Amino acid sequence: MFVITCASCGELLTDELRQVPFPPTPKKFTGERLGLPLLQEGTYAINPETGALTLHPDGAPGTGPHTGPGRQNGCCAPDGLDGPNLVCADCGAEVATLKSDCWQEQLVAVIPEAVEVHWMGP
Ligand SMILES: [Zn+2]
Ligand SMILES: [Zn+2]
Repeated sequence: MFVITCASCGELLTDELRQVPFPPTPKKFTGERLGLPLLQEGTYAINPETGALTLHPDGAPGTGPHTGPGRQNGCCAPDGLDGPNLVCADCGAEVATLKSDCWQEQLVAVIPEAVEVHWMGP
C-alpha cells in the first residue's frame, strides 16, 4: 500500500492506495466511460503518456479547491482544463488536477513533482 504526501509540507494527501495498471484507452470511442470514475476508490495508476499519478475523483481528501480565477471551470463540475485545481489543504501548494465533469473520464491527476509517494508495506 502507498500514501501520497505534499512535497512542500509533508501533509498526507491520500488514504492508503493500491497500485493498479492504467486502464487502456478503448480502440473505438464509445463514450461509455464518460461521467464515471476511471479508477476504483483506494487505487492509483500511472498514466503511461503523462507520467501523472492518477486517482479516483474522491481519492485526494487532503486537498482543497484552488481559488485562482477559472480554476474551477466546468459545465457541472470542475474539468481541470484551466490548470491545476486542487491544492494541499495544509500549505496551499498546487498538487493535482480534478477532472470530474459530465463529459470526462473522472479522475484526479497528481503532479509528480509536487508530491512524494511512500511505500507503507503490503
Ligand atoms: Zn457537465
Ligand atoms: Zn502542503
